[in-house]
Amino acid sequence: LSQTERKIIENSIRDIKDFPQPGIVFKDITTLLNDKEAYGVLMNHLYHRYKEYNLDYIAGIDARGFIFGAALAQMLGIGFVPIRKKGKLPYTTISEKYSLEYGVDEIEVHIDAFSAQKDAKVLVIDDLIATGGTANAAATLVNQSGAQCVECCFIIGLSFLDGVKNLKEKTQVYSVIEV
Ligand code: AMP
Repeated sequence: LSQTERKIIENSIRDIKDFPQPGIVFKDITTLLNDKEAYGVLMNHLYHRYKEYNLDYIAGIDARGFIFGAALAQMLGIGFVPIRKKGKLPYTTISEKYSLEYGVDEIEVHIDAFSAQKDAKVLVIDDLIATGGTANAAATLVNQSGAQCVECCFIIGLSFLDGVKNLKEKTQVYSVIEV
């Protein structure tokens, strides 16, 4: 990613203060998706990075990971798997709980999502990593499915939290931009 390309992506992301609650600066990527140049630069960058990985699937995290993940899977000519919040997937699932600031949440994946390919190589993708709890649970689900999480990719890495550091104990981590 050139300096200019990085700036194009950074400038397209909008900060919303105090959403969804006071003290949080929400990174709004709808303005990136809405900007054809920024979205194009980003997807082109991801395509060139991951075409060397020989991936079998992209697993996108509910919900913004679906947007980038599904587009990237199509560019790479591979399958896409949604990792969803509990209760949304219709077939048999395996699920994983993870802790939030207050309480717990749970994500799940279809039990046969990666089974067409033995030892499938999977990239997990989401828009942003904060504490890393969500991505950690997603990587666990992939590995429990008999597939292999080879990397977790984020458009934005929040570097003032320990999310990236913690997740690196489990899998490779890549953030397009760090803030
Ligand atoms: P975490 O599990 O703490 O790493 O949180 C990551 C998940 O929460 C991702 O699915 C993000 O989309 C969302 N998220 C957390 N913090 C923010 C933020 N400041 N701006 C936008 N999304 C966020």
